[in-house]
Amino acid sequence: MAETEENIEHPSHKRTCMCRPLNIPRTKPTPEVLNLLKDLQLTDDNLKQYMKLLMTDIRKGLARATHPTSIVKCYPTYIQDLPTGRETGKYLALDLGGTNFRVLVIELEKNHFEMTSRTFVIPQDKMVGSGKDLFDHVAACLHVFIKEQKLEQECLPLGFTYSFPLVQEALNKGIIERWTKGFKCDDVLGRDVVQLLQDSLVRRGIQKNVKIQAVINDTAGTLMSCAWKSPYCRIGLIVGTGTNACYVEKLTNAEMFNGPNKGSGVVLINCEWGAFGDDGTLNFIRTPEDIQIDETSINPGKQIHEKMISGMYMGELVRLLILRCVKARLLFGGRDSVDLNQKDKFQTKYVSEIEAQKPGNHDRCKAILENLGMQNLSDQDLQNVRFICECVSRRAAHMCAAGLSTLIKKTEEKRITIGIDGSVYRHHPYFHYLMMEKMKVLVKPGVVFDLMLSEDGSGRGAALTAASASSSIY
Ligand code: ADP
Ligand code: MG
Repeated sequence: MAETEENIEHPSHKRTCMCRPLNIPRTKPTPEVLNLLKDLQLTDDNLKQYMKLLMTDIRKGLARATHPTSIVKCYPTYIQDLPTGRETGKYLALDLGGTNFRVLVIELEKNHFEMTSRTFVIPQDKMVGSGKDLFDHVAACLHVFIKEQKLEQECLPLGFTYSFPLVQEALNKGIIERWTKGFKCDDVLGRDVVQLLQDSLVRRGIQKNVKIQAVINDTAGTLMSCAWKSPYCRIGLIVGTGTNACYVEKLTNAEMFNGPNKGSGVVLINCEWGAFGDDGTLNFIRTPEDIQIDETSINPGKQIHEKMISGMYMGELVRLLILRCVKARLLFGGRDSVDLNQKDKFQTKYVSEIEAQKPGNHDRCKAILENLGMQNLSDQDLQNVRFICECVSRRAAHMCAAGLSTLIKKTEEKRITIGIDGSVYRHHPYFHYLMMEKMKVLVKPGVVFDLMLSEDGSGRGAALTAASASSSIY
């Protein structure tokens, strides 16, 4: 499959929309529902406060003295050079770190690339079992792919997109710090993820086909893949199963960086901002439903920021807020259903589907709720449910906007492009516009920014990183 920019439809590709965002619909709920959901609406003052707190935590993460106790870790990666656009060659890539696990082969040519990928399922028991089982499964899938693509006679460099918190010690060495997003293989905490994968490749007998060159996370991959196209790209953002961001920082500020200075004077910082709020910092904007989601998760107390924003939790937040309104007898005449009371039954993609309908058209909303066992829905009920969806997606987009505005300020750049990936940003009809709208309020006047949809950062970004690693080795 050859991918080009043209075949992906997204608002960030329509440059004219960047300056004049379309009217973002705002559904009118009943005054009682509006009042009951007040705590979901973040004011600009809330967001400015959030920005101050995030900036403080980023500085803590960067400084050697405060890093150990910092919540936002700001790990230095070992990426010091952004792509030149001249990278060439054939690479394998793995993308592990959320809902889908993918294996890819990418051929980079000047200003052009070809990519073939296959998605594999990670069974639930492997997500929460032993690390050995998980990485053996990864190696088995890679083996299937190598056979399918007839790569048995080759030895290809591999870029490993591993999107969980990692303490990197080299481009091809990273210590597993924490599992997130529904994964929990705690027996391998503290172990080198590259070595774990290498051991599995050996057990599988495919070590001769693969040379693991680099491990990066998806935010770094996103930044790299956008930087390949845009010389102004300095920030990468993910809003998918989880959320995280990375940015280009001056080496002098990255006190935790231990590697050799390769000359660029900068290093890519993996913020791990999903953990923002784990020390209570975000309590001033958390709702009872945020607390419930955290308490019933497999990692209570962890990834508080992520749990307020990302795709793994957004639908569940909507479900819990629907129940809040039902309990107050402001929705469905106080009725509920078995399904509506079941965790995760309201999927995040429903939020996009409901909001994608023209205002006033509630067909999809009605079908979704009927599917969840609700009947005799009034128009006002449907309108209120759409309003709940809008509250949740708007809050998430505004928090991302505030996070990015903080990073833009930190880079001190006057013109900057932000590469973004993840299904929430990609598929929600207004996420892009909601972010743009709020960033225009929060970013210092005179600073020019744009948001660019990344075309497969985890694949191409990993290949580009493997390419730069290969070129510095050979
Ligand atoms: P990952 O982050 O795991 O690499 P994705 O970027 O595809 O993968 O994000 C997956 C998340 O996106 C899931 O939590 C899913 O609920 C959510 N998602 C899937 N489809 C949509 C959609 N149409 N709108 C919003 N969110 C979606
Ligand atoms: Mg991904």
